[in-house]
Amino acid sequence: MENNASEVTRRTFIGVASTALAATATVAAQSQSNMGSHDAPNEEQPGANNNGLDAQNPDSVWPPETDNGTVPPFKYSFALSRKRIESGGWTRQVTARELPISKTIAGVEMRLTHGGVRELHWHVSAEWAIMLYGSARITAVDHNGQSFVGEVGEGDLWLFPPGVPHSIQGLGPDGCKFLLVFDDGNFDEFQTFLITDWMHHTPKEVLAKNFNLPESTFDKVPKKELFIFQAGMPGDLKKEQSQTAEGTGTVPQRFDFTASQMKPTKITAGGEVKIIDAMTFPVTPITAAIVKLKPGGLRELHWHPNQDEWQYYISGKGRMTVFTAGSRARTMDFEEGDVGYILQSNPHYIENIGNTDLVFVEMFKSDHYEDISLAQWMAHTPALLVSQHLGIDQSVIEAIPKEKIVVDPR
Ligand code: MN
Ligand code: MN
Repeated sequence: MENNASEVTRRTFIGVASTALAATATVAAQSQSNMGSHDAPNEEQPGANNNGLDAQNPDSVWPPETDNGTVPPFKYSFALSRKRIESGGWTRQVTARELPISKTIAGVEMRLTHGGVRELHWHVSAEWAIMLYGSARITAVDHNGQSFVGEVGEGDLWLFPPGVPHSIQGLGPDGCKFLLVFDDGNFDEFQTFLITDWMHHTPKEVLAKNFNLPESTFDKVPKKELFIFQAGMPGDLKKEQSQTAEGTGTVPQRFDFTASQMKPTKITAGGEVKIIDAMTFPVTPITAAIVKLKPGGLRELHWHPNQDEWQYYISGKGRMTVFTAGSRARTMDFEEGDVGYILQSNPHYIENIGNTDLVFVEMFKSDHYEDISLAQWMAHTPALLVSQHLGIDQSVIEAIPKEKIVVDPR
């Protein structure tokens, strides 16, 4: 048991502090007014403080009293990642190198200008994406030479299967910004297979032989990768679709998915969730749950028996508590651009603690979604048995809804 008399929680600290220090009036009055049991008091913190980070992480400064023990950090912010800036946009990543716990999934943020191109490339991992702002033209070709050319708008997804070469180009007056998700925590967006890089590192005589063209054809191939570069706008969509499909046709299953038009999988008073796995988006080996919690809403107490969960926060402010067994629990705060991670079968919940909707994605390296709800487990276990564990009346256990709630309140 790690709890002991010397452990200083917020409440015990304030209790001691107010007794010992009241006479010297160095402790500011504690505010009980607006924020509930987790609220940080107006206690001035002496010594050196990073006030900006403290303000973003109130549940680390004054953890809930139910938090206990050592739980490895499960949060990293894209704001701490190095941004690689190019003429046509920028990119930054959060991988297992930044957040060591995140072994199964890595994330990349990318911004492209109007006409900015993420160079033709491929990689070993599958690439899942959600458009956060603006729109893009995407292209890909599969192992049968079948093509895909499409356009993706805000809230919509794409999936490039492992090894399938592709490109992304910003459309619209201000280009676009999107999140990429890869099914390998050690993925590195700066170490992909690039068309310019490979051509430059292949002798021109080999290129000449490969394409049955004169060597001079390849004189202008760049000597350094383009990676992200400013280009002119793409051609007419329908023309490009028919040109790329000549002789082979298009891919049998689309690489894009209009998640923005999808009916939520579940709607409650507290919010909604859209679950997008291979049942709805057949090409994807990566499953997503797009969750919206209204202010005060709670993503119910649950865990995932089949995979780790990787999260990206799109908007709003929330906090997540993870229980890691052995009496250990930790709460961390999340806002736009933050990444969270929960190991397989570790129970957790997320609360919206802001005044606006909290929107985030739960991502899984799996082609299907699974979770186990604490409430549903209890509802389908003999009520007498549960009652004997928890000291809660059998009638109360029997009244727990039999279906999964997902987002509270129902
Ligand atoms: Mn890619
Ligand atoms: Mn979860």
